[in-house]
Amino acid sequence: MYPLVRVNKKHLLENVRTVTELCAARNMAVTGVTKVFGGDPEIAAVYVAGGITRLGDSRVENLKLLKGLAAEKWLIRPPMMSEVDDLVTYADASLNSELATIQAINGAAIAKGKVHKVILMVDLGDIREGFIDHDELVGAALETEKMKGVHLYGIGVNLTCFSFIQSDSEKMTALMELSKTIGETIGRELEVVSGGNSATLDLMMKGGISEGVNNLRLGESLLFGKERANYTFLPGTHKDVFTLECEIVELKEKPSVPWGTVGVDSYGKSPAFTDRGTRLKVICALGKQDFDVETSTPVDKDIIILGASSDHLMLDVTDSNKSYKVGDTVELQLGYFSTMRAFTSRYVRKVYV
Ligand SMILES: *Cc1c(COP(=O)(O)O)cnc(C)c1O
Repeated sequence: MYPLVRVNKKHLLENVRTVTELCAARNMAVTGVTKVFGGDPEIAAVYVAGGITRLGDSRVENLKLLKGLAAEKWLIRPPMMSEVDDLVTYADASLNSELATIQAINGAAIAKGKVHKVILMVDLGDIREGFIDHDELVGAALETEKMKGVHLYGIGVNLTCFSFIQSDSEKMTALMELSKTIGETIGRELEVVSGGNSATLDLMMKGGISEGVNNLRLGESLLFGKERANYTFLPGTHKDVFTLECEIVELKEKPSVPWGTVGVDSYGKSPAFTDRGTRLKVICALGKQDFDVETSTPVDKDIIILGASSDHLMLDVTDSNKSYKVGDTVELQLGYFSTMRAFTSRYVRKVYV
């Protein structure tokens, strides 16, 4: 049955080993981010087999799936007030930016006889999560330190996710300085200084991260071997961990330009077409709810992706050396968002090799 996504666990393991060794050489521990594949425990187990001891996901529901794995679980999105009970049950730690939420976590943890670890987030320019006001941050650290149901574990920053502000040495030094200030205020050193995601790897490899930043939360680089500052592939990694296979349900010669009165798509835009004459076109049985056109590449390099609707994928196979027929399958190499969709779609079967 198609569509299916094939997960190459051997290649993933090699990626994990390569990236974690790069990090270990610079005293950097890795939190393996599992949100890209919906917290699938069989894939997360490969992270753990590769030596990763901390797993992070943005959804408590995904962390719940990982409960059988021997690793520290982090919720890497600020928790919802409404989920603090599940949070303290399924996560050992979380990234936080609101004192009111930390107080709610404290209450939930005390009620369950647990201690939940808190990492305070600092916003250093990306304008996503984190404290902007440094006095407020230090104040929140002091308050957190007093609570019995939570343990102030460290601080962290996230960059290159919303405004695409890159990490640089100044920002990493600023993070380290804040960690020192908090350490002096509470009278002990923080255990975790989390310097960012896959977009910080490039800076790390250039030696641009201050001593003391000791953790990165990595998803994309482990899964696709890509650092995200310049989008280069890291030596010794594979980009073919996730391959999607879909089935051809129609194959016909069709014109490249549509005919009739043109309307607009659901985003209010009229599509544009180039006249390349009559072409051999294929429809595959999957669509935007199962994958993402922009972050998918046909394995057969001579195939052109024309586009997709919710449940039809249109390809131009005219230039291919293969002679496709109805019932054959086509393979796509998946990137970040495409993988995320494939794992969210209940129509895509998962196969592990
Ligand atoms: C998604 C996410 C990550 C992982 O990002 P990658 O670019 O996949 O390495 C790290 N930290 C936070 C807070 C995230 O939301």
